[in-house]
Amino acid sequence: MKITILGAGGMGSRFALMLHKAENDVTLVDGWQQNIDAIRKDGLQAEFNGEPVTVHLPIYAPAEIDQLGEKAELIIAFTKSNQLKAMFEQVRPIIGPDTYVLCLLNGIGHEDILQEFVAADHLILGITMWTAGMTGPGHVTLLGEGEVELQNFAPAGLAFTKEVVSAFAAAGLNPKYSENVKYAIWRKACVNGTLNSLCSILDCNIGELGATAEAEALLKAIIAEFAQVAAHEGVTLDEAEVYTHIAQTFTAAIAAHYPSMYQDLIVNHRATEIDFINGAVWQKGQRYGIATPYCALLTQLIHAKEQLVGAK
Ligand code: NAD
Repeated sequence: MKITILGAGGMGSRFALMLHKAENDVTLVDGWQQNIDAIRKDGLQAEFNGEPVTVHLPIYAPAEIDQLGEKAELIIAFTKSNQLKAMFEQVRPIIGPDTYVLCLLNGIGHEDILQEFVAADHLILGITMWTAGMTGPGHVTLLGEGEVELQNFAPAGLAFTKEVVSAFAAAGLNPKYSENVKYAIWRKACVNGTLNSLCSILDCNIGELGATAEAEALLKAIIAEFAQVAAHEGVTLDEAEVYTHIAQTFTAAIAAHYPSMYQDLIVNHRATEIDFINGAVWQKGQRYGIATPYCALLTQLIHAKEQLVGAK
């Protein structure tokens, strides 16, 4: 399959490496010039479960997109949520009527942005449990196993989505065709909307958050806000199951982990995806007349912290 990956960060690089190894024709587009320069000079370098791997893939800056000279078959979006719209605006020349877009970003509401660029029946949504981390321009660390859940956003996209599932299976990405990806997206957003935002504000890892006396009440209140807003969008979240799913991380191996928002904001002083997680619930709540005070406060605190650390 001919695949263009927008965002050659941790996740974009993981998918690029695995899909390239399975003989797909992979092209990268990235907005970080130092990363582009490093990948052009030395290739994309990964520690892949402890093994060093280098692959040479074509990579373009969005401003160079005209050099591609043809429309993309499948675009996989792997920018951060807050970079998604600007990236798509810049790559319009490679989006044609036959181009499909797969979005695996964390957070909710990406379909509203993407439908400005691609028809609903060419949109595929999903989540992934794979992980990845950038250790510098052109360098990523890829550990462990994961999976992908995906579903066409509109019925007419089914046949191509099944082709994507086959290509991902051949690449070892463990895809699963989902009959209800919207539920999976909201459920995962609850994980990010509790662990990411709380650990970033409280300056702690997942286990330390879980050890506080307030953790249970905080999680339940935030999940309840997500559930009320999700219900307005036709998704009935099982709040008790979602709470148990998140709370089990407090004592799992992942407890020592600082979530990605913490890494972005506290460690690297980067702007966060908060507007697509708690911020999206706050905004949608305002639209539906639902009070979401926890999500509102967390969004404002994270934005205030972004300003305090000079996040870009
Ligand atoms: P990332 O930050 O590694 O990369 C995203 C973009 O930011 C890339 O274009 C990258 O080049 C750029 N970038 C990275 N560091 C930069 C820097 N210092 N300065 C300027 N630009 C920089 O993001 P990711 O971890 O690949 O995440 C992509 C999406 O996937 C997000 O929505 C994320 O929530 C989601 N996701 C991530 C993981 C994970 O383990 N990383 C797991 C599941 C979902």
